[in-house]
Parts: sequence; C-alpha cells; structure tokens
Amino acid sequence: MLSIGIVKESASGERRVAITPDLVPRLRAAGLTVLVQDGAGAAARFPDSAYGQAGAQLVADVYAGADILACVGRPPADRLRAGQLVIGLLHPDPAYREELAARRVIAVDLDRVPRTLSAAQTMDARTSQENVAGYRAAILAACTYERFFPMLVTAAGTARPAQVLVLGAGVAGLSAIGTARRLGAVVTGYDIRPEARAEIASLGANVLNLDGEGTGEGTGEGTGEGTGEGTGEGGYARALAEGEQQAERDELARHVARHDVVITTALVPGRRPPLLVSEVAVKEMRPGSVIIDLAGGNVEITRPGETFVTENGVTVIGATNLPATMPAAASAAYAHNVCAFLGHVLRDGELAIDLADEIQQAVVVTGGAA
Ligand code: NAD
Repeated sequence: MLSIGIVKESASGERRVAITPDLVPRLRAAGLTVLVQDGAGAAARFPDSAYGQAGAQLVADVYAGADILACVGRPPADRLRAGQLVIGLLHPDPAYREELAARRVIAVDLDRVPRTLSAAQTMDARTSQENVAGYRAAILAACTYERFFPMLVTAAGTARPAQVLVLGAGVAGLSAIGTARRLGAVVTGYDIRPEARAEIASLGANVLNLDGEGTGEGTGEGTGEGTGEGTGEGGYARALAEGEQQAERDELARHVARHDVVITTALVPGRRPPLLVSEVAVKEMRPGSVIIDLAGGNVEITRPGETFVTENGVTVIGATNLPATMPAAASAAYAHNVCAFLGHVLRDGELAIDLADEIQQAVVVTGGAA
C-alpha cells in the first residue's frame, strides 16, 4: 500500500498545508496510507487532532517513510529519495531541478497544469491560489486605505466611493476587481489582452483603454473591445517592446494619479513583470492612496515583501505570498487540486506515471521517465 506524507512547510511566512483534514478520507479511499508530519496544519488552524480523527497517522518525520509527499512549496532536496513522488508549487530553478533529477525524484510542479484542458481544471493550483491572492489584495487595500470603499451617505456627511484601478486582469486581477466591487468601490480594470478587457466588463467594472489601442475611442473608459495585439501564446499576454511599454507607462501615469487604490497583477510568462507604474506616477498620487504590487515588479519603487509610505503619503505594499495570509481557504482549495491530480495518476492504489498524458507531460519536471 502506498503512503502519502503531508509535509509541514518550512519557508518563512508559509502558513498553508497541502492536504486539509477533510480530504484525508478521500485519500484513504483511494488506497493510500496517510501520514502527517506533527504540526503540519497548525499554522492554517488545522490541528493534529483533526488529522488523527480523519484517519491519518501523525509522524515526526514524514520524508523518510512516505512514497508520495504533498507539499505547498519546495521541500528540501536532501530529504528526498529515489522514486518518491513530490507534489508542490515547486517553481524549480535549474539548480533545484538538477538536484531533484540527481536524486531520481518524480517531481510535479502543480503550478504548470495546462489551463486550456477542461479535464485539468480541478488540478489548476495556480488559478486557485491566484484567485485567493486577488481577493486578499482587495481586502488588504480596503483595510489599508483610511477612507471608505463604498459611497456612504450619513447625517455626518457623504463619503465618496474609493476609485480603484486594477492593472492586469488575469485570474488574480479579476478576483481583485470582483472583490473591490463587492466592497462598493468604483473599479476600473486594464489589460493588454482584449479577452481580459471583455472579462473586466462582464464583472461590471469600467474598462480602461489607452490612446492608440482598443476601440478607437481614445482615452478613458471604453467597451472592453480591443485589437487583439496584446495576446501572445497560449492565451497569455505577449511581452511588449520597450518603446510600447514606455508609452503604456506614460499613459497609465495620469490614470494612476486619479485613483485612490492601484492593484497591479500584470505578468508575462517567462519574463520579468512589466513595469507599469513609474516612480514619477506614484509621486502624482494623492496622500492616503494605496498601491499593492502583486506581481512584484509592476511598480518601480516596490520592495518585495515590504510595506512603506512614500514622502507624498502613498502606502506601497510589495505583496509576495498573499495566499499564505489566508491559509485556511488557500489550503482548502490547494488540497482539492492535489487530490484531483492524485486521482489522475493513481490506478488501483498504484502510481501510473505516463508522460504521454498531456497533463502529466506539463507538470512532471523530473523523474517521469524513470
Ligand atoms: P498572468 O498571471 O500571466 O498575467 C496576469 C495578467 O497580466 C494577464 O491578464 C495579462 O494579459 C496581463 N498583462 C501582461 N502584461 C501586461 C501589460 N503590459 N499591461 C497590462 N496587462 C498586462 O495571467 P493569468 O491570470 O495566468 O491568465 C492568463 C490566461 O489564462 C488568461 O487567458 C486566462 O483567462 C487563462 N486562464 C484559463 C483558465 C481555464 O481555462 N481554466 C484558468 C485560468 C486562467
């Protein structure tokens, strides 16, 4: 009988756990013995006793005994052994990948699940976690902004609604847009992909079209239709040339200046995040404004992992791992992704790694052909 080990995460600030107690019976029904490292779920408020009651065995060291390791981040490579299946958001750099390969570990990076395959949607950990990140970014912005998000009319006066601008409307951006709208802010979204602009509009938010693109309406909020030039391979954004990026940045500056909250989420696969908000643009913002850079590089002055207030009174938050700040919800979603993947690779309680399978081909980063 194969065993699966639930790892206690070791990265600083990481509070998520890969499997929540409610899914332990599902793993056991799939023919696995479930081992859980002491305290694995504690930071996400899932006590050891909940795992025990669900039928898991508590162990001090989960690495040695388990055939499968369920992780959130990267486990230490020197604790892994040949033939072990390791599932996580591994983001392997070449050095880590080499270490895993040398140890003949079967490593699965659940961040790489192909999104266009409907059969893979339940395993799409990137989407589930970005969804949490976007929600949390909007909540964090509302808590940091020292005024109301909605318009409030009271006997003590009228508060105008916050003007929120979300740059980049992929999974995280759309989640932030939806949440900020539910909190009552006036929300505008911007993306270079026309498909994303249509999605912004479908959430009832304003769509920002810059000069020289989109519907030809020029500046201001448009209908969300565009030229299609922003879309690259696989439905992701294409990287803009430096001149285009500079023009985008220059134009965005005046829109940034008139917003109270700016949340940035723009990414291009395999590239550094595009620089959308310059230092000069931040200087034009009103005191009390808030910037949250989720992409870690969309804003010139962001310091990843840090929060600071500029001389002109703008709070800049370099958010690095927002899903870890709401670990119960993020873990619950991630655990479903892990279990769905296991359901895909387990046949009668045995591992059936098959690189001819499109999903496995995308996520297995080492050891699949062993
Ligand atoms: P991402 O994280 O790669 O990027 C975030 C957003 O930034 C994207 O919308 C991108 O267009 C935008 N962006 C990049 N450069 C920009 C720039 N210079 N200016 C403004 N915006 C910029 O994107 P994502 O969240 O991974 O989503 C990418 C695609 O995957 C989308 O088409 C999305 O609909 C799709 N998707 C599909 C599924 C599914 O079918 N199950 C699930 C998730 C995502």
